[in-house]
Amino acid sequence: MNEVSRCESNSPVERILCVEDSPTQAAHIRNILANDGYQVEVAADGFQSLALARETKPDLVVLDIMLPDIDGYSVCRKLRSQSDHYIPVLMLSARQEVEDRLDGLEVGADDYLPKPFDARELLARVKSLLRIKRLNNELQEKLNEAQESFNVWRRVAVTDHLTGLHNRHYLQKMLQDEVTVASRYGTSLSCVMLDIDHFRDFNNQYGHLVGDEVLKGLAAVLERGSRKADVIARYGGEEFVLLLPMTDLDAAALTARRLCREVASTPLASEAGNLKITISLGVAALPDSDITTPLKLIAKADRALYMAKDAGRNRVVVLGPGDSPPQELVE
Ligand code: GH3
Ligand code: MG
Ligand code: MG
Ligand code: MG
Repeated sequence: MNEVSRCESNSPVERILCVEDSPTQAAHIRNILANDGYQVEVAADGFQSLALARETKPDLVVLDIMLPDIDGYSVCRKLRSQSDHYIPVLMLSARQEVEDRLDGLEVGADDYLPKPFDARELLARVKSLLRIKRLNNELQEKLNEAQESFNVWRRVAVTDHLTGLHNRHYLQKMLQDEVTVASRYGTSLSCVMLDIDHFRDFNNQYGHLVGDEVLKGLAAVLERGSRKADVIARYGGEEFVLLLPMTDLDAAALTARRLCREVASTPLASEAGNLKITISLGVAALPDSDITTPLKLIAKADRALYMAKDAGRNRVVVLGPGDSPPQELVE
């Protein structure tokens, strides 16, 4: 294909980097390739070729072995390690020994052509390597797409679609991990479980859509009021769990109380006026000799939550280790 027909086919002009120290040889190779429609750049030594390859990201490198600074083998090795994408390398050399050829292929060259070469053979090998390069690009693109959708689905799998918080599945996984860390290093880990008060009545009065707005608004308050390391998850319909690493019972109680106050005073749904709701919260924490499995940490916080409901709602109940009496923090 000549340059004109290549342009007509609308495919981008392929760029070839020719690494050749002999100006006569370089001009010869450039001519053959340019006449066939390729865009050719020439580097006269190894270091220049590596810099050019970094800069121009060629589709193919035609590489002489004997160069004035570093030899073609080193160039090939460095090319392979410096670029994050595949560049085919065609080695050219006057050395024809089998050993030399093997050396070239061993350092990662894709093909080897002894000098002097026939122009048609050079072109045939260039074409075949560029075909492989195109296939490689397509494959890489497909892999990137697959990786991207995998990332999206992984995010979807751990996210609650209504609030954007983590879901119960993610919480359970993090609970295992955080309890393992806390037990191994003897650090504290708190769990706050909370539930909207009389939410059924709220839904009945204002409708489910307004109820959904409230759930989103509550999620935003919880996110604003937490630290980066905290795990905030929607546990069920209108139940949420906060896991607070490196946080002891007293600190968690303060956080829970602050959240309780904030929710009660923040309008969460703009529809139907500035509606406010209240929440009840239960708090438990490690270390606690009663809590022998990760699920027991949640179960204890849940128990505390139901004590808060029983005691009148819009409050925090903290359950410490052993027989220590529940601490009730009324707002
Ligand atoms: P309590 O103070 O004892 O928690 O009373 P409650 O009415 O909040 O408790 P109950 O468990 O009886 O009702 C929970 C309600 O939460 C039932 C349901 O209408 C509502 N709910 C659960 N999931 C959603 C949701 O995704 N959207 C909306 N709008 N409401 C939900
Ligand atoms: Mg040379
Ligand atoms: Mg409720
Ligand atoms: Mg509930």
